[in-house]
Amino acid sequence: MSRSVFVTGGNRGLGLAVARALAADGDRVAVGYRTGEPPDGLFGVRCEVTDPDSVAEAFEQVEKEQGPVEVLVANAGITRDTLMLRMDDATFDEVLETNLKGTFRTVRTAASAMLAARRGRIVLLSSALGYLGSPGQTNYAASKTALLGLARSLAWELGARGVTVNLVAPGIIETDMTKVLSERRMTALMKMTPLGRPGTPDEVAAAVRFLASDSAGYITGAVLPVGGGIGMGI
Ligand code: NDP
Repeated sequence: MSRSVFVTGGNRGLGLAVARALAADGDRVAVGYRTGEPPDGLFGVRCEVTDPDSVAEAFEQVEKEQGPVEVLVANAGITRDTLMLRMDDATFDEVLETNLKGTFRTVRTAASAMLAARRGRIVLLSSALGYLGSPGQTNYAASKTALLGLARSLAWELGARGVTVNLVAPGIIETDMTKVLSERRMTALMKMTPLGRPGTPDEVAAAVRFLASDSAGYITGAVLPVGGGIGMGI
């Protein structure tokens, strides 16, 4: 059955891979894009997750085009890495505002239509390094692990209405976000990864696709790691 899907930050990286995977399944997929142009062949809406009006307008456009959102993939995220002693408030806030509060905003908007429909899937992009801890990423790790509390509390709030809320926690995946890592850091991270290689966006999309599927109907409040084993057991 074709569902109305919205993927934030869907113009590149993991979001784009997820959007393409769900579109290939026959879903009606809208991608939120903050800058540039929407990707070819996908319906795009401007969506800056730090701006409440932009989020509200994006959902209105998606609903008009393809119906109320039934699957939300809250993917938009940033890093602003630096050691904590050098991190100013603005750098900390920027990451929390995008990764945590931006997700809160999109999820809150999506949840109201899902409650009314008594069905829905919400998948949040967390991070394996968040749980493991990562030097230079206190802001990022805090934002990504905070999503666990958000998701699990929301799982309680929405569960009785058939809406599931889950997290995917990628390890090191080949996107623009990880291109900036130094060779030294990458080598160290690969030593911590039993599979010994970075993942691909399609490998993350496969996990999101599963959690968004009907087959995952009895899974909520879960964290699905997609990291080649990095941080397993945490
Ligand atoms: P990219 O940097 O490649 O893409 C990030 C996406 O988020 C872009 O589409 C970007 O839009 C969008 N975005 C950033 N800020 C905002 C904002 N304020 N409003 C709307 N959209 C925004 O990252 P990835 O694809 O690698 O990561 C996607 C998600 O997965 C992120 O949440 C990230 O934290 C998470 N993740 C990634 C991992 C990895 O190894 N790649 C590992 C673990 C988690 P624009 O093009 O305008 O900048």
